[in-house]
Amino acid sequence: MTTAHQVNARPENLPETIRHYIGGSFVDSLDGDTFDVIDPVTNDPYITAAAGKQADIDAAVAAAKKAFDEGPWPSMLPRERARVLNTIADIVEDRGDQLAAMECFDTGLPISQALSQGRRAAENFRFFADLIVAQHDDAFKVPGRQANYVNRKPIGVAGLITPWNTPFMLESWKLAPAIATGNTVVLKPAEFTPLSASLWAGIFEEAGLPEGVFNLVNGFGEDAGDALVKHPDVPLISFTGESTTGQLIFANAAPYLKGLSMELGGKSPAVVFDDADLETAINATVFGVFSLNGERCTAGSRILVQRGIYDEFVERYAAQAKRVKVGVPSDSKTEVGALVHPEHFEKVMSYVELGKTEGRLVAGGGRPDGFEEGNFVAPTVFADVPSDARIFQEEIFGPVVAITPFDTEEEALELANNTKYGLAAYIWTNDLKRAHNFSQSVDAGMVWLNSNNVRDLRTPFGGVKASGLGHEGGYRSIDFYTDQQAVHINL
Ligand code: NAD
Repeated sequence: MTTAHQVNARPENLPETIRHYIGGSFVDSLDGDTFDVIDPVTNDPYITAAAGKQADIDAAVAAAKKAFDEGPWPSMLPRERARVLNTIADIVEDRGDQLAAMECFDTGLPISQALSQGRRAAENFRFFADLIVAQHDDAFKVPGRQANYVNRKPIGVAGLITPWNTPFMLESWKLAPAIATGNTVVLKPAEFTPLSASLWAGIFEEAGLPEGVFNLVNGFGEDAGDALVKHPDVPLISFTGESTTGQLIFANAAPYLKGLSMELGGKSPAVVFDDADLETAINATVFGVFSLNGERCTAGSRILVQRGIYDEFVERYAAQAKRVKVGVPSDSKTEVGALVHPEHFEKVMSYVELGKTEGRLVAGGGRPDGFEEGNFVAPTVFADVPSDARIFQEEIFGPVVAITPFDTEEEALELANNTKYGLAAYIWTNDLKRAHNFSQSVDAGMVWLNSNNVRDLRTPFGGVKASGLGHEGGYRSIDFYTDQQAVHINL
């Protein structure tokens, strides 16, 4: 049995401290302030990071604005920018092991999953490199009267604000399209997990990204994040995080009429009909909520199961959840590691306790055996959860799932849509007509039919209702980070 005394493997080449990166140089906060970053297995501070404030954001935005106004990045040919992006992808791939080791140490993600997130980060750069080279814009002609075409232009300094779950990959999802399209950026990564973000500066320098195109300011949301949102020289904010933070940013950005992209929280349903391939549906729905420690925006954290298969599903699901291997994140066999931070651990544990009063506990329900310290939570399954339960309605963002029975398709749809969120939905049925009709009616930005959460980067990514505003992915990201100017010519 694993014991609490085991420690997460400390990565090689840890920096001594995490600093900002502004105008091509690593710098401390202007007021010298720092904050502690902890390792989620011991909850001991292992490094300090510069705590950015308004003055640091001002400096970073000034550097980014200078790089945008004076170039050469915004006016370089797409092919030239694509070369830099592909080199970035090469470096990220070459450093995959080191990067994953750091991500795993800082976030508590299982190492095997941190490795695949690193590969996805590289792919994000390759994908947007391809896209800008293949980019074509609209042109319309009214014969004998008028020709019209579109000038696509980078907008300026993009403010990128990212969360602590899969931080490196999610940063790449914003960095790649923002710089591919010729903008310059200021990234404000999450304060819980600043380690992997600090690697970008070295990677970008080595790939030949001009000075000032990428700037990084660490710090807390209410200081550095807030200053970035309210900075008049930052016309775009791309934010991923909680819905309530998104609401605040929306309000704070309103006086400046900024372009906003909001990727927010979720409480996504997985709907299993009685004609589904049960074995596949159980495997996928177990993976869907327990992978990435359950700290996944698109987690299928509510499972709705048709009555005829309900008892068997719950029994088999609980048995499988108990087999999920919780362990030290750096162990290659670990499937659920340590939650990111003690504050988040307390939040998830409070839902586990609440769940015991709202549903029937069939797996987990606390710390796994042998893990008395650190942020470890046993994969936890509640059955018979009513739709007005808080564990049915609220995003827990941990390895906790609510299972609820339904009788008819109409009831399933009502239950699926009965939360404020609308990010993803997973549907398991062999009835094709039902699958497509249900997809059309469910309140979700993304639907997976008889499928795990597998992304095609060309498709739109985003949520409806409280799960987001706008879409990223493929050309939608290009659209967000560019202005399209219509030019009309009289013939
Ligand atoms: P969070 O909202 O607490 O923080 C996200 C980022 O916003 C951090 O960098 C934080 O410092 C910053 N921030 C906080 N307050 C701010 C403010 N007033 N002004 C500017 N910036 C501010 O979210 P989190 O806890 O880091 O991340 C988890 C959440 O993110 C979950 O709700 C999850 O569903 C969501 N998420 C969504 C997606 C998606 O694509 N829809 C992807 C990943 C995570």
